[in-house]
Amino acid sequence: MTRIFSLLAALLLAAPAVARAPTLDAVAEHYVKLSLVVGTHEDGYIDAYYGPPAWQASAKADKRPLSALAADATSLAADLSAADRANRKAPSLVRRRIAFLHGQIRAMQTRLAMLQGKKLSFEDEAEGLFSVRPTLKPLAAYDPILAKIDALVPGEGALSDRVDAFNMRYRIPPDRLDAVMRAAIAECRARTLAHIALPSNERFDLEFVTRQPWSGYNWYKGDAHSLIQVNTDLPIFLSRAVDLGCHEGYPGHHVLNMLLERNLAKRRGWVEFTVYPLFSPQSFIAEGTANYGIDLAFPGEERLRFEAKTLYPLAGLDPAAARAYFELGQAMRALSGARLTIDALYLDGKIGRDQAVELARKYQLMSKARADQSISFAERYRSYVINYGLGQDMAQAYVERAGRDPAARWKAMEHIIGGPTVPAELAR
Ligand SMILES: [Zn+2]
Repeated sequence: MTRIFSLLAALLLAAPAVARAPTLDAVAEHYVKLSLVVGTHEDGYIDAYYGPPAWQASAKADKRPLSALAADATSLAADLSAADRANRKAPSLVRRRIAFLHGQIRAMQTRLAMLQGKKLSFEDEAEGLFSVRPTLKPLAAYDPILAKIDALVPGEGALSDRVDAFNMRYRIPPDRLDAVMRAAIAECRARTLAHIALPSNERFDLEFVTRQPWSGYNWYKGDAHSLIQVNTDLPIFLSRAVDLGCHEGYPGHHVLNMLLERNLAKRRGWVEFTVYPLFSPQSFIAEGTANYGIDLAFPGEERLRFEAKTLYPLAGLDPAAARAYFELGQAMRALSGARLTIDALYLDGKIGRDQAVELARKYQLMSKARADQSISFAERYRSYVINYGLGQDMAQAYVERAGRDPAARWKAMEHIIGGPTVPAELAR
């Protein structure tokens, strides 16, 4: 009797909640529409959108204040939790979709709090926006790496000046830039196509621009089309060609966006993938895989061989000098974490701008102008910087757990970039 009663009570209590749970599709649509409204309060918040134009138009007409949007986001999060409970036993792709939406909505709530003036520490902000809490090493941890690099670039004067002078010998002349970039992108594309099938209508436009806080950008337009922009404010060194071709193009941003559009937005009708809010865990996956994509496409010394054989002649540079440049580039990668520490010190108000620029020169071994660009980027994008180095480390760890076989690694990469992936999934 008691058992039957409690069973009935449980059913009665549970039934209305299940019946009221919104569908995931309804939650997703609400998420897209609210993201677009948040985007009207901050330029650049919406990195890409190719859903219904009418939703964009109603977002522009929505004049609710930020506090009302925050309340809306709270109710959206509650709806998702209800839909989550109703879909506990859903197939794994649906569970991944739910995890993805949780991270994206949490990021929206964090960004709305920031837009309303809430001050967060670098680490709290990164965790709220990108679902990853960075571990910041003290700068002294990078001193032994500087000592190693010092031996690679002997001479007089500060190491950053010597490295910059060394790099300048590998500058791509402006009139050769277009040819070098196109050759690099074509090679990144061919290497990606050998492993990942892409839509037959996929294409990109390449443009050279100035006066931006970034060095390159992919603007995804929908329908398998990207605009790739390269900032020419500062001299462009040879290694940027392959970096950019893989990062912005193949298998980086252009490919990730195309796969999400084809696999999820079009095939499944999951509308949340028609919008890409920049300050969200989606960027951790996008930047991390775009950076790791360089190593995946050019393992070991394949990059050195390709650059020496094809890009050096196109740039009018001597291929005999390629190895020294490649080795310096490899050594400097161990410094990437220093950028997070410097940006965190600066953004948390512990050091001033001049000191941040000086530290960027010292630990990222760059010219004053380039260090200045790096700090301008931190001012504009703040904790977004974690997505590059940390995202790369986590994407690499995930993909390389698939073993040494290149086919298995590319398959693991396609799993991350072609599905609803959250940073925690990379750590598993
Ligand atoms: Zn990027």
